[in-house]
Amino acid sequence: MKNLFNFANDMQMNHDYKKLQFIIHRGSHQIGGNCVEVATPNVKIVIDCGLPLDYDNQDLDIQEKIHEDAKGWLDHCDAVFLSHYHGDHYGLLSDAPKGTRVYTSKETAELMKVSGIFGEDLTEHLDIQVMNGTVAVKDFRVTAYPVDHSAYGACAFHFEVADKSILYSGDIRLHGKKGILYKNLPQNVDYLFLEGTNIGRGAKQRTETDMENEFIKQFDETPDSVHLVWCSSQNIDRIVALYRACKRTGRALCVDPYAAYVLELAHKAHTTIPTAKTHTNLLIFYPHRLTTKMIEKDPELIFGPYVKKRKLDVKLLQSHPGKYVMLFRPSLLYYAKTYLNEVKVCLTNSIWAQYWEQDKLDINRMKEWLEEKPELRKKLPDIHTSGHADVPSLQTIVKHVKPKHIVPIHSEHSDSFSSLFPDTSVMEVVDEVQHTI
Ligand SMILES: [Zn+2]
Ligand SMILES: [Zn+2]
Repeated sequence: MKNLFNFANDMQMNHDYKKLQFIIHRGSHQIGGNCVEVATPNVKIVIDCGLPLDYDNQDLDIQEKIHEDAKGWLDHCDAVFLSHYHGDHYGLLSDAPKGTRVYTSKETAELMKVSGIFGEDLTEHLDIQVMNGTVAVKDFRVTAYPVDHSAYGACAFHFEVADKSILYSGDIRLHGKKGILYKNLPQNVDYLFLEGTNIGRGAKQRTETDMENEFIKQFDETPDSVHLVWCSSQNIDRIVALYRACKRTGRALCVDPYAAYVLELAHKAHTTIPTAKTHTNLLIFYPHRLTTKMIEKDPELIFGPYVKKRKLDVKLLQSHPGKYVMLFRPSLLYYAKTYLNEVKVCLTNSIWAQYWEQDKLDINRMKEWLEEKPELRKKLPDIHTSGHADVPSLQTIVKHVKPKHIVPIHSEHSDSFSSLFPDTSVMEVVDEVQHTI
């Protein structure tokens, strides 16, 4: 395992800023698990430190090695920059030494706080600093740029040292509601670390408006069923599309208190985002275990978004299932088993299809439950569009940024970048090889 910090210590401390170095610890040839280190002789910065997507399927000894590697990468770093709150970008930050300084967007910081109800509270372990414009970390000036992605508060980072600059795209797309944000990204950078999740997957991505229309079609075709839609509570664009589809088909969208809280946070920045307090056909349902956990963590998480008239009436749900859509995930199956066992139910995945294929206890239980009463419950086709840019969008980003060099990351097809960007130098990178700029 290489570590640029060791290199930094070995160098004569002449503060030669031209010795800017980077190393992709993980992510040069895979999707997810990103971890990049950039360093000069007297500063070490880590960008994201995520859990590989296949972590759960690995043997224990490999899982242990994954944590050991992360500890090494995060050791003695001056700061971590976290692009967004997806596990494949933040999932190994718990391996950072206590008190490690982590810069991120205000939105991501808020999500980290509330998401502590599901596991370790990273905000207690780390020194979270909200990015407000540009921050200085010794030699580096770092600026965050909000980008469109399927995670609330995602951003790209621009690192500047003397006359050198690196732009790290994070996860990015142009086909969501805020796709236009790419136009704010800085131009003429030296190196663009560009994600390439959808390279090799061909298809042009559909828009969130397409998702809205597909939901409407499904709801219209099954008017007697309640729809359970598995969608991330952080995927605000998708929830808005779902909400709009509900409104146009005369259904109420029901969300759990965690999603209700995330919507409250998002609404503060964008008042068009629906909340129980501001939008009539958005209701909150209160699964017992989740609600209890949230009250234990902080009663305000529940009582902040709570509105008496917006509490889902379970009896109405059971008598008129076709009037409701529920934002759902397999971990809420106990709620469905309690209240929806005798009700007509349709399930739709509005997440990356492979999540449904994972060999996980709660997903397997969900599949079994669907099969138990085929006359009542069915799984409908997925309605999803990627949180990542398609190839034409990546080319649009490159055309705007005009980097001297592209560094592929977050892709299984990094070798294809050079044919997609023939007018720009594309670096050949592999994990754990250091580069001097
Ligand atoms: Zn990712
Ligand atoms: Zn992501």
